[in-house]
Amino acid sequence: MSHSVQGKTVIVTGGSKGIGKGIARVFANHGANVAVVARNLSDANSCAAELNETGVGKVQAFQGDVTDRTSMQNVANEVSEHFGGIDVLCANAGIFPSASLEDMTNDDWDLVLNTNTKGTFHSVQACLPYLKNAEYGRIVITSSITGPVTGYPGWSHYAASKAAQLGFMRTAALELAGANITVNSVMPGNIITEGLEGMGENYLEEMAAKIPMKKLGTVEDIGFAALFLASKEAGFITGQSIIVDGGQILPEN
Ligand code: NAP
Repeated sequence: MSHSVQGKTVIVTGGSKGIGKGIARVFANHGANVAVVARNLSDANSCAAELNETGVGKVQAFQGDVTDRTSMQNVANEVSEHFGGIDVLCANAGIFPSASLEDMTNDDWDLVLNTNTKGTFHSVQACLPYLKNAEYGRIVITSSITGPVTGYPGWSHYAASKAAQLGFMRTAALELAGANITVNSVMPGNIITEGLEGMGENYLEEMAAKIPMKKLGTVEDIGFAALFLASKEAGFITGQSIIVDGGQILPEN
């Protein structure tokens, strides 16, 4: 696998747990400096300490909330000051609370859209000045198969937020192509994370049975897809998505 991220600085929002932690681990193992961003600094610090024990690159925790524009601007400034620039943004932070259409409140809707979609916008905009200064900039968005390809009851707000990320991605890719910044996404299927475990054992078993590979994905499966999209070698790919789902969306029935 490419080592072109060696010495590059990578921000991973939602990097303290789950898929974000897997992305952070893969980049750190390939020699990148990694900024792990989450609201809970204590979790982010624990994650950084764990990854620093095994990784090659340096991992540092930063407190930030993607729903808050100023918070993300502060994080980008702090990360750049700490590591000397920003080369890659993995806009990964996201939430997936469940609510039926009948019961969904405006607050339920706003929380999901503000975190998953507006949070992506805040993260990209905050990192942009630094990505423009990089040799080549990379933005990798964690979307989902839910919304762009599939649906799941209770997740209409979540599905809308994940499909919206892809619309954002395509236009951002066009706007930033001239600045040598690529914007792509990874679309995970069902991946074992702290967040997904909260859906309960029945959900996990039901999902594993539906996946042709008969297992859920690992967070590193997503990390390696992100690593490829962030590599120098992927420099002519922009505005595209990679589905990482063990074949979940393939069956016709
Ligand atoms: P997770 O295990 O619940 O971890 C979520 C991470 O995001 C944590 O680090 C959390 O830390 C952070 N976070 C949440 N809200 C935040 C905010 N407002 N600002 C900054 N950080 C925030 O979730 P996950 O399963 O890894 O999911 C990560 C991403 O993958 C999401 O975008 C999700 O939509 C996507 N995804 C997941 C799956 C799956 O199967 N797990 C499938 C498809 C797509 P704090 O709480 O400390 O802020």
